[in-house]
Order: sequence, then C-alpha cells, then structure tokens
Amino acid sequence: MPIDRTRVVEVTLVAVTYILTARLGQTLAIPPGNVTPVWIPSGLMLAWALVRGPGIWPGVFLGAYLGNVWAYFDPSSALSMMQSLLAGIPNGIGDALASVGAAALLHKHFRPFKLFQSVSAASAFLAIGVAGGSAVSAFFGASGLVFAGIIPVASYGYVFATWFTGDALGVLTIAPLAIAILRKEKFKGGGFPTFEAIANFALVSTAGFAAFWGGIAGLVLSFELVATIALLLWAALRLSGLYNSIVVFYLAAGIIVPTALGYGPLREVELNTALINAQLMIGVIGVLLLMLHASREQVRLHVQRLEEARDTLDVKVRERTAELECAKREAERLASTDTLTGAPNRRIFLQRGNEELNRATRNGEDACVIMFDLDLFKLVNDTYGHSVGDQVLRDCARVTMKHLRNYDLFGRIGGEEFGLLLPETIEADAFEVAEKLRLAFLERSVSRHNLHYSASFGISSILMTDRTLSTALRRADLALYQAKTNGRNCSVVYDPSMGQAPNTLEEQKKQKQIETGVSQ
Ligand code: GH3
Ligand code: MG
Ligand code: MG
Repeated sequence: MPIDRTRVVEVTLVAVTYILTARLGQTLAIPPGNVTPVWIPSGLMLAWALVRGPGIWPGVFLGAYLGNVWAYFDPSSALSMMQSLLAGIPNGIGDALASVGAAALLHKHFRPFKLFQSVSAASAFLAIGVAGGSAVSAFFGASGLVFAGIIPVASYGYVFATWFTGDALGVLTIAPLAIAILRKEKFKGGGFPTFEAIANFALVSTAGFAAFWGGIAGLVLSFELVATIALLLWAALRLSGLYNSIVVFYLAAGIIVPTALGYGPLREVELNTALINAQLMIGVIGVLLLMLHASREQVRLHVQRLEEARDTLDVKVRERTAELECAKREAERLASTDTLTGAPNRRIFLQRGNEELNRATRNGEDACVIMFDLDLFKLVNDTYGHSVGDQVLRDCARVTMKHLRNYDLFGRIGGEEFGLLLPETIEADAFEVAEKLRLAFLERSVSRHNLHYSASFGISSILMTDRTLSTALRRADLALYQAKTNGRNCSVVYDPSMGQAPNTLEEQKKQKQIETGVSQ
C-alpha cells in the first residue's frame, strides 16, 4: 500500500502536539499518579478528530503512549523500564478511543462546526465528548498505571477521578476554542475584536481577578463574584462562540495556575482538595457558558432562518403580485380590444369617448367626432371571400391607428364602421384628418388580389349641449350618409340641413341610459 505522505505528516504532527501540550500540562501535575488538572491534549485531540476525521488515531495513540512513557519512565532497573514502557500502551489506547471514538459518535449526528450552536448538539458534546471520552481515557489510563505497578490498587479510585476531571476540563475548555479558531470565527458578527468584546474581557478580568484574589475561602458570595457571573452571562448571550471559548480558557488558566502554585482563595486548603475545587469552578463556568451560548445561537439561527424564509416569501409575493397585475392588465386589454382588428372595441370607445366628451364640454374645449364606413364592402366579401374582407378591415384599422395622435380616441363601432374622437380639434382640422385617412386608404393594396379599398367619412364637431357621445356620433352618421349619397369615397361635414340628432335633454338622457346602463 502506498504511504500517504500528508497523512504521515499529519499523524506526526498530532503526536508531537500531544506530547508538547501534555508536558505543558504536567508542569501542574498532582501527585500521586501525576494527573494534571486541565489535560490540554484531550481537548485538542477531540477537536482535531472532529474536524479532520478518525484517521488521526495513530497520532493520538503515539502521543499518549510516548507522553506517558516520558512522564513515568523509571530507568532504575530493567523491570521498572519495562513497566513504564508497558503502562503507556493502555494510555495510548484509551486516549485514541476517547478522542476518535467520541468524535465519530458526535460526527454521526452533528457537523463539527455546528456543535455549539444548538442545545442538543452542546449537550451531546458534554455527554459524549466531555464525560464519555474522559471516562474511557481515565479507565484505560488508571488501569494501565495499576497494572504496571506504578500506583497501588488502593489509589485507583482517586487516580481515576482526577484523571477523569482533568481530561473532562481539557475537553470542555480546549475543544470549543480550537473548533472556533478553525471556524475562523470572528469575535462577534463583524469586526475583530469588537468594542463590546474588549469591554467584556476587561471587566471579566477585573471582576474575576477581584473575586479570586480578594475572596477568602469560606466567604463565597462576594460582590465581585456576582459581578463576574453577570459579566459571563453578558458574554454568553451577546458575544461570539470564539470569544466565549477564550474567556473559559482564560478563566481556567487564571484559576488553575495560581491554585496549583499555592495562591488564591484556596491557598489554605490542602493542594489536592484545592485543585479539585478549582476544577469544579472551571467546570461550572465552562458548562454554563457553553449551554447558554448554545441556546442563544439556536434562537439566533432560528430567527435568521425565519427572516430568510420571510424574505423569500416577500419576494415570491411581490413576483406573484406583479404577475397578477400583468394578467389583469392583459385581461383588461383583451376585454377592451376588438379581436379582429386590434382596435378598441365599441364598449371601450363609447366609455372613453363619453369621459372625453364630458371633459371637453365642461372645459369649453373644441372636439370633433368622425365616423367612417368602408365603401361597398359587401362586394369585397362577396367577390373575394370573408377572410379577404377581414384582411381589409385589419389593414384599415392599422392605417388609422398609425395616423392618430396618442390622445385621439378610436374604435370599431360595428361591422365595417369606425369612430374617432379628436380632442382639441376644430371642424376644419377634423376634415383634414378625414381626408388624410381617406387618401391613405386609397394607396393601400391588400391580399394577393392587390385589393384597393375606400371609405366615406362623416364629421361633426362636439356641441356644448351634447351630453352623450352617441348624440355627436349620430350627427357624424348623418354626414356619413350624405357622403355615401354623394357617391362614396369622400368626406362630409355635418350640416343641420342633413337632419337632427336627438337634442333635447330628455332625449339625450334616455340615450345615455341605454348606452351606459346607468339611470341618473
Ligand atoms: P356601403 O358603401 O353603402 O357601406 O356598402 P357596403 O356594402 O359596405 O354596406 P353594407 O353595410 O350593406 O355591408 C357591410 C358588410 O360588411 C356586410 C358584412 O358582411 C360585412 N362585414 C361586417 N362585419 C364584417 C367582418 O367582421 N368581416 C368581414 N369580412 N365582413 C364584415
Ligand atoms: Mg359599407
Ligand atoms: Mg356599413
């Protein structure tokens, strides 16, 4: 099997890291059995296995084995040398099992970088990583020392307990810190480090220092202690996981080192008891910060997810609203458009025309209506067929729409009859518009038959007495009739001699009711 170089390098690095950090911890080892209060390698190895996978186990084994041999090696006799070489083996197995086994179990259910972001993950970390792993390591380690004859059987319980607490505190204080660093987590959300983190750190240091150094054994509840707890709550509830891990580590070092050296509130107490008390203090602080911070992260992530969901929902609602608007506009357009010619239909022409007529008469503005009708159109249908007739109608509407100003109103009134309303236009100009259209039609040539067509135009200005568009259209119709009589293909302006449109108010009201379906 080819040797994977990077793996060899990593495994070596794991072993060297283990030994160096173990030596660092052993400077504070408690006799008998040389167990240390905070076993740094246990936390580092678990974090390493969590992030990099179980493949690092030989490094953990080697590190633990060699570290153990280094600590207990007794060169006085061949037997004692053998004993120390053997005692390292269970220690190696125990530590490899503890870190790699716990990491594998945790990995099954949680992603390593999410380990401190929910209460369930943090609880699993405490149960499996902190408690379970340390129990396995302590069992193998203490048993190895007994089997090798380094400690008497009577000390087994004590060594197991101190081994366990040391390892547990190592995992509790080091693993979250290592993982937070690997996550490249910022102190709090954005910048590094924030004013808030610096302020909290300074205050925790001051209050914690005062509580620890000012405290007298026995007098537990001091202002400084309460202040420290409050400051830790602030950190857990507002600052980042990295920052919280740093504070736990910092407090652990600040409590363990002076206590081991015989200073601090526990200086009067026997060293072993003092260290166990110190360990308990660190344990409580560590678990408190870890669980509180995990709860806060869980809530924060939930809120974040909810906000994201709300945002996507907002976007969807906006999109849907825009689509509906579009569909509504399209439906309105279809409802007001004549399907054959694309011109506004009779309904919309009369509706808008009436609005425009009301506006114009109210403001005393000039306006004209034109009605035109294709000449001898029946003949077109009869000669070339209905579909050619349709083409002519389409052509006629298209040409008309091209010639209009955008505020002129146009509509297909019926079969081959069209209407126009030209705002702000006097009769003479309306006549010109009609003539322009008439001439434009004459130039057209439709379908493969090169069909030419013409139309007749009737024109009337809108009178101030007009109440409905139909009244005006009626006059235009009379003029149109005249144009037909004159021989078609011409434009005629209404003249009262052509007849009368309904003129009395009563007549007009009746007409309006018929047109709008509204009684006034
Ligand atoms: P005039 O010059 O007197 O108007 O003669 P005309 O033949 O055009 O008059 P008339 O009103 O008798 O004929 C109109 C014809 O228009 C009758 C009808 O078949 C035709 N028409 C009406 N609507 C449509 C349509 O949508 N498509 C086609 N192809 N023909 C239509
Ligand atoms: Mg006609
Ligand atoms: Mg007609």
